[in-house]
Amino acid sequence: MKQVDQVANGAKFIADVPHRESHDRCLWAARMRRDAVAQQIPEWEEMRRLASLVKMHTLSNLDFYLEQFEKNAIANGIHIHWAKDAAEHNEIVYDIFKAHDVKIVTKGKSMLMDECGMREYMGERGIEIFEADLGERIQQLSNERASHIVMPAIHKLRGDVAKLFAEHMGSDPTNDDPHYLNSVMRKDMRQNYIKVDAGMSGANFAIAETGGIVVCTNEGNADISANVPPLYVASVGIEKLIPRASDLPLFVRLLSRSALGFHVTQYTSHYHGPREGQEMHIVLVDNGRSERLSMTGFCEMLKCIRCSACINTCPVFRRTGGLSYDAPYMGPIGIILEPSYDLHRYAQLPYSCTHCGSCANVCPVKVPIPELVFKWRNELVDKGEDLLSHRLQMDVAAAVLQNATRLSWAEKFALSALRHTPKQLLNSHLNPWAEKHTNPNPPEETFREYFKKQQPTNKKQ
Ligand code: SF4
Repeated sequence: MKQVDQVANGAKFIADVPHRESHDRCLWAARMRRDAVAQQIPEWEEMRRLASLVKMHTLSNLDFYLEQFEKNAIANGIHIHWAKDAAEHNEIVYDIFKAHDVKIVTKGKSMLMDECGMREYMGERGIEIFEADLGERIQQLSNERASHIVMPAIHKLRGDVAKLFAEHMGSDPTNDDPHYLNSVMRKDMRQNYIKVDAGMSGANFAIAETGGIVVCTNEGNADISANVPPLYVASVGIEKLIPRASDLPLFVRLLSRSALGFHVTQYTSHYHGPREGQEMHIVLVDNGRSERLSMTGFCEMLKCIRCSACINTCPVFRRTGGLSYDAPYMGPIGIILEPSYDLHRYAQLPYSCTHCGSCANVCPVKVPIPELVFKWRNELVDKGEDLLSHRLQMDVAAAVLQNATRLSWAEKFALSALRHTPKQLLNSHLNPWAEKHTNPNPPEETFREYFKKQQPTNKKQ
């Protein structure tokens, strides 16, 4: 499969100034809200530390907690299935739908189902899936994947949505008022809800002690999917386990504040069994998670609770947009997760990072993203998947930096080149950096020369 070139994809988004500026502004606002609400909780850092420990404990005993969850869920009247990969997940769900003659499904937002390509799989088999989440539905109508974990259509302007709705639902293309657009979507979706044969959702947490799942949404899309139809199927990644019900408040408090900077998510729904007359299934999905768990130094990526705080704060993501990653997961969490699905296809993603470290500072479960990015770069070099241009740059840098005389000559050469290269050439398209920056005037001397002058008696210098 073709390698994803996030830099080239991102450059297109950067060039689109209105979209880029709106994207940057909205995400930075979410980051600032997150800071404000986190600062109101004195024990915030202690909560992060605790959440990280609970996640690591669960992952270290995952076999035990998964079996406990299964036993308790079955006792609650839930059918449990195990899927080793995306293909098996889709087959299991399809078999359930076939057995119930399902033709139309409504679905709450789920990154796992995107990861499994479930909507496309069902579509090819004649099962129509309606996204109940507004942002996901916008992306479905646009025939695009989600560009953000929590706000799937955040890269779009209101005017884009107005035109899209006009095209698909005959609304006024010039009216981009959010209340109007919401009402258009609500009217359209309500007629679908009463027709659906089954509902689906993901889960934010699966509680081993009680055998139930918890889904957090701001629009109630999971609730529509779980409560209206006679059949409810939830897909749950095996890393979503937490041991006890008493662990849940810690994660719920962290999740909403980290995601959008809200004190609480609008709907925190608990599903611990089917409603009367309903059938409820949970598919526990591995899809490479056990393998990730066994990768030395990488297992901490499984602590992720998909809050998107790292995405909102990332300067690369805010400027280049989520679609540039061309992957189900995007931004900082995407660049450390995706290479574990397909090393070659996503080999360039770990280089879409400036190592500013902001992601690690905001992550509620302390996923050490910058360290993992660094580990991935090592892994890519070891596996021969790094770019030739990077390798050459590193070889030259190593040769120069290992030797003081060579470094001194390189500094002199660079300074002379900066002084004598004509400005027209330095500011031409041959130097992409100069397209958006002004080249500073070259200094009079190298730092080494300056340092020598300051310490005239230091002969070694
Ligand atoms: S890595 Fe941390 S900050 Fe990023 S989505 Fe996961 S939990 Fe949130």
